[in-house]
Amino acid sequence: MVRKNLNTKTPRHKENHLEIKTDILVIGSGIAGLSYALKVSELASVAIITKKEKAESNTNYAQGGIASVVGTDDSFEMHIQDTLSVGCGLCHRDVVELMVKEGPERINELVEIGVHFTRKQNKFDISREGGHSRNRILHAADLTGKEIERALLEKISEQKNITIFENHFAIDLITEHHLKKKKSSDEKKHCYGAYALDEDENVVKTFLANVTMLSSGGAGQVYLHTTNPPIASGDGYAMAYRAGAKLSNMEFIQFHPTTLYQSGSPAYLISEAVRGFGGVLRTTSGEAFMKKYDERESLAPRDIVVRAIDTELKKSGDEFVELDVTHLPSEKIKEHFPNIYKKCLEKFKLDITKEKIPVVPAAHYVCGGVVTDVLGKTSIENLFACGEVAMTGVHGANRLASNSLLEAVVFSHRASLGTKQQLQQKFENVSVPSWDESGTVNNEEWILIEHNKKEIQQTMWDYGGIVRSDLRLQRALRRIEFLREEITEFYRRTKVSEGLIELRNLVLVAELIVRSALQRKESRGLHYTTDFSQTDETLLGDTIIFKKEEPKEF
Ligand SMILES: Cc1cc2nc3c(=O)[nH]c(=O)nc-3n(C[C@H](O)[C@H](O)[C@H](O)COP(=O)(O)OP(=O)(O)OC[C@H]3O[C@@H](n4cnc5c(N)ncnc54)[C@H](O)[C@@H]3O)c2cc1C
Repeated sequence: MVRKNLNTKTPRHKENHLEIKTDILVIGSGIAGLSYALKVSELASVAIITKKEKAESNTNYAQGGIASVVGTDDSFEMHIQDTLSVGCGLCHRDVVELMVKEGPERINELVEIGVHFTRKQNKFDISREGGHSRNRILHAADLTGKEIERALLEKISEQKNITIFENHFAIDLITEHHLKKKKSSDEKKHCYGAYALDEDENVVKTFLANVTMLSSGGAGQVYLHTTNPPIASGDGYAMAYRAGAKLSNMEFIQFHPTTLYQSGSPAYLISEAVRGFGGVLRTTSGEAFMKKYDERESLAPRDIVVRAIDTELKKSGDEFVELDVTHLPSEKIKEHFPNIYKKCLEKFKLDITKEKIPVVPAAHYVCGGVVTDVLGKTSIENLFACGEVAMTGVHGANRLASNSLLEAVVFSHRASLGTKQQLQQKFENVSVPSWDESGTVNNEEWILIEHNKKEIQQTMWDYGGIVRSDLRLQRALRRIEFLREEITEFYRRTKVSEGLIELRNLVLVAELIVRSALQRKESRGLHYTTDFSQTDETLLGDTIIFKKEEPKEF
């Protein structure tokens, strides 16, 4: 393969049937991947691969909004303090400062590309969510993510230098391992692109790139109950880990306190903003129980609310608690939450202005991820990461509501600056082998994939979820390790398919979460274990996890 030095603007990528050469490969088409692609398309050709239809992403489901300091009674320092306080001592203050201070500029850019945030009297209508001391959540009614995704995709469609490959599922990042190149121990690894399954044609293509951006989002599907759509199977964490990248803080999984009970998968989320608007959490017998747990009551940060709900459910044996907005003016509810109101009424026959909403927690967000510096660079050369899959240091042990969309836009911009630097360098000429599926067969036993997936999700829900203990985590680890061996064996002899690739990733991400949780011998933020129920003020480091030996087949 011939690699170009990309000092200058280059034409669109070149393509043959199974090998696609591009300057920059972006894996994922959520807010992080799309924002980054728009910026770097000024520098070079960009191919975006995305495993489903292009808008399908966690971004598309975000309701509440994006946090930024725009109010006159607000300040950068207040937003920084709120973020640090919710992050429970593990946020990297310097990175939080960057995110908060650069936020307003990135918000302006979103407005410039056509995002319509809700306004009142020509000013942004800013709302408040749990953990925020001021109103600072910009939103587009209660469909903020959808509006951002729409505007980004529209803008992308105007860029000649960007091509989107829908239904292209990244399987693995290409590194020296695939080149069968021996690497001395002090030599850095490089990323040369990725292998991806074209789901329409059922062939594996080789995407070769000078720079690869991993923006593949979260991993909610590791758990039985999740707010995340099916695309969120943690592929990016698994690919990066297998490639040898450094990951961190995978034990910090945020559970959203309020998803509609029995709404299916993904669970229908009742936005945090509903509590910000005056919604009160009650037991089924009517008690406003949050006052027993935190002075901020229903507006306490998510981890506190989630554990309070978990405790109340265990005490009462109930399957849900209730979110009550019936005391608020019904016209205001309809105006502020038109979609939640409509969806509950039409799909679930629930009039939230008159009836309490039955809610349970569900896995929502991964605070840890692939470690990056402030320019989006990972521990592997030419591999960048941004968005939910990345661990920039802003969330620490818990994420402040609506900081994730902000993190994605700020650090995708920063990663574009990092990419600019990277493109000044000379790229090595390497020859990458095509995908080799010799020795594999089509397997008829697809039902096993579904069974294995359910086992992983149930195990993680029961033993690696909201309240942990060493005993539960060890139990989870034994089951996960066993499943991983079984799945590895299945993967080795079977032709790749969407379900199989996801399963291989889910089981690995589950293991990374459990191993990280076992390493942290304290309770902090989202990680709560009954064996070490207090925070240990000496444990202020991140939980680093990476593959020590050369990647083998798995
Ligand atoms: C219901 C819900 C509500 C939320 N509300 C808010 C909110 O109000 N405010 C806030 O700040 N955050 C919110 N979040 C979190 C926020 O939406 C996400 O963290 C953020 O959108 C992540 O953006 P991303 O670009 O990193 O990932 P995503 O938007 O998830 O995009 C990931 C992309 O990668 C693709 N992909 C994944 N794996 C592969 C693969 N192997 N090959 C190819 N493509 C792949 C996916 O198809 C998708 O296109 C919410 C999340 C959910 C689920």
